[in-house]
Amino acid sequence: MSDLGRFSKINDAFTCEHCHKEVPVSQRTCRNHCPFCLHSKHVDMFPGDRANPCKGLLVPIGYENHSKKGLMIRFQCASCKAMTRNIALLDDNFARDDYDQILALTPKA
Ligand SMILES: [Zn+2]
Ligand SMILES: [Zn+2]
Repeated sequence: MSDLGRFSKINDAFTCEHCHKEVPVSQRTCRNHCPFCLHSKHVDMFPGDRANPCKGLLVPIGYENHSKKGLMIRFQCASCKAMTRNIALLDDNFARDDYDQILALTPKA
């Protein structure tokens, strides 16, 4: 048992459904994408609420620099085709996002 259990509603460790690696809990925010391959899962209506019944694979398609939030990864759901985005985690002590992979995506014009 761990203290981290009480945060499980918004910040879970999970196994990536795309590359099947273990993704550790983020220390800072509610991570919802894999730091290794950047794929995510369509589970949120709004960030962290886990209220979306879609559960489709979110494929990283690009990135953008948000004036307030910094670098964000843009995703498209493989099931419902919805577009979503999430803040990139570049300073996480356990598993930071693969910066080279992010920059290999298409920047938003
Ligand atoms: Zn992955
Ligand atoms: Zn979806």
